[in-house]
Parts: sequence; structure tokens; C-alpha cells
Amino acid sequence: MTNLKMNLKPLDQWGVTDNFPLIISGPCSAETPEQVMQTAKALVEKNPQVKVFRAGIWKPRTRPNSFEGIGIEALGWLQDVKKETGLLTSVEVANANHVYEALKHGVDILWVGARTTVNPFSVQDIADAMKGVDVPVMVKNPINPDLQLWLGAIERIHQAGITRLGAIHRGFSSGQNGRFRNAPRWRLPIELKRLLPDLPMICDPSHICGNRDMLQEVSQKALDLAMDGLMLESHPNPDEAWSDKNQQVTPDALAEILESLNLRKPEGDAIGTVDFLSLHRDEIDLIDMEILDTIARRAKVVKKIAEHKKEHKMTILQVNRWDELLKDRLAMAKKLGLDDKFSKELYQQIHLMSIRIQTAVMNAEKET
Ligand code: PEP
Ligand code: MN
Repeated sequence: MTNLKMNLKPLDQWGVTDNFPLIISGPCSAETPEQVMQTAKALVEKNPQVKVFRAGIWKPRTRPNSFEGIGIEALGWLQDVKKETGLLTSVEVANANHVYEALKHGVDILWVGARTTVNPFSVQDIADAMKGVDVPVMVKNPINPDLQLWLGAIERIHQAGITRLGAIHRGFSSGQNGRFRNAPRWRLPIELKRLLPDLPMICDPSHICGNRDMLQEVSQKALDLAMDGLMLESHPNPDEAWSDKNQQVTPDALAEILESLNLRKPEGDAIGTVDFLSLHRDEIDLIDMEILDTIARRAKVVKKIAEHKKEHKMTILQVNRWDELLKDRLAMAKKLGLDDKFSKELYQQIHLMSIRIQTAVMNAEKET
């Protein structure tokens, strides 16, 4: 796909900050007026780079009966933050009513969450509610690694007339228990930036990492990839947070992270200077995790089969089945362009493992 034509204002024309990069911080969720104000005041005191305060008011939780946000009442707390600290405010909006309420209460920047970006109906409703309003909007990537879906949501909001429009990269659900809560898959935001060079790209290391330990590393990487800003969750007492407690940091810890960052201002084609190898290594890490996870899942199924064979007094090896399976898998591998010799050796190893697992099941049962 070639570059798309959109009328987008670069971040320095948003009229929200002269700072580079744009730093947005605040709690995952607004919990109490005290927690919100305490966070905001500590942010201003310890982190002069933070210009925008974030707080979730309506929380899209994975499971019901968790804390689902304070709702409209907390919009008043954000107004107080703005009045007392001068920070701009931002909230997530997930439907048209959220947009009306947030605008009515003077919220400065709206963002669309990852669980909403996946649904074009919801995004369209939100876009319709934004028609004729000049408010900055940021669109988080969808939870699945689908660039078209992300782009589609951005286009819908843009068609509503929003030109102060940005994207937030918060990583992608991978179904694996890897290093990250949400795999960064850096190549997707980079591809989006290639298609829309004027689209400000903010990285959300908190939701990528899911823990505090890697926030610095991911923040630095985002800046090295020429992203325009960071959104980092902060809380006065992260361990007691009502949502996402593992990934929030105190305003003090945030200051340490921000001070440690090496702010390289992009020159020319910054994306082209990015470490090509490290990007592709991230992709390899994810693929390897998927390979190992798949092998482990196969081993579990083999174990179930072994238990069944034992119960029905069958032999471990059924020669015909193995012969058919090998032929079938080799044909499949060939279609995928894999080398015959490699596929055969791989399958011999997989089969050996399967026999070992089954033998172990049979022997274990013999002893009991
Ligand atoms: C959030 O920013 O608190 C949030 C819910 O994030 P996401 O939409 O990325 O899951
Ligand atoms: Mn959160």
C-alpha cells in the first residue's frame, strides 16, 4: 500500500505541548478524588516533562464483576486536576455517550481503547459523536495484530473531521505467556507511520510490558523508533491500584525512567536508521515462543492419546498411522517451501518425543 492522503496535524501543531516527546501519565483508573489529585500533583512536581494527565473513567475489563471505573463523577476530578495543576486531561471513550460527557466536562484529549478499535460499529458511533468537534483524538491499536483494522478506525475518526489525530501503540495480544503482556510487534506501528508519516505515534509501554521492570527498555526503544511520545501509567501506591497494579509506577519511579531516557530527535528518515536486526529479532522471539507453545500443546494431546491407548490396551505405535502422518506432513511442508530433509528430520524428532511421552504414560500406569 502506498502512502495515504489524510489531512493530519503533526503533534507540534496540536497546541497541547512544545515538548518532545509528549509524555502522558496518570493512573490506569481514577479511583478516588484523593488518588487522582495526589498523582497529578506528584507528577507535576517530579516530572516536568509530563504535560497530559490520563485516567480511565470507564474501564473495559476482560471479566465482569471487576472494577469497571467510577464513571461520570470522576470527570469532575479531572476538571479539578486541570484547575490545580495546569495539566491537560485525557480519557478513554468507548461509546458516543462517553464522548458527549467527556467533552461536556472539558476533557482535552480523547482516546479510543484497544478493545474498541477492533469493532468498526463502535468506532463509527464514536466518530459520529465527534462530528463538528475539534478535539485531539488518539486511537490505540486493536488487540489483534491487524494493521487494516487500526487504519480503518483512524480513517473513521478522520472522516468525522478530526485532524489532531494520533495513534497509540500498546502491543498486541499473542495468546502466549511471553516476556510481554502484549507483544510489541514494532513493525506494525512502523508500517502505519510509513503509510501516514504525519500521524503522531505514541507508545504505551505500560500495556505492552504488563510489569514495571521493562518500562524503561520499551520506552527507550519507542523513542529510538522515532515515536512522538509515551503514555505511562502512574499511581501513588501501585500495589494497591484497583486495576493494572503490576504495571503502574509511582511518580518518583516515573521520574527515574524519564531521566534515564536518551532523547534522540529524529533526523530525516529516522525509521530507516532504526536497528533492523533488533526489530526482526523481536519477531523471531515471538515466532519461537509460538513454536515452543505449539510443541507443548502437541505433547499434551499425545499424553491424552497415550492414556486412551493404555485404557484400551493398544500398542503405542501404529505403524500405518505413523506412515500416513509422515507422508501428509512432508507434503504439507513441501507446499510451505520447506526443505525435504529438514522436514523429515524434524518429524522424526517430534515422533520420537511422542513415543517417549507415551512410553512414560504406560510405565507410570504399570507401577500403580
Ligand atoms: C488503558 O489505557 O487503561 C487501557 C484500558 O488500555 P488498552 O485499551 O490499551 O487495553
Ligand atoms: Mn491500564
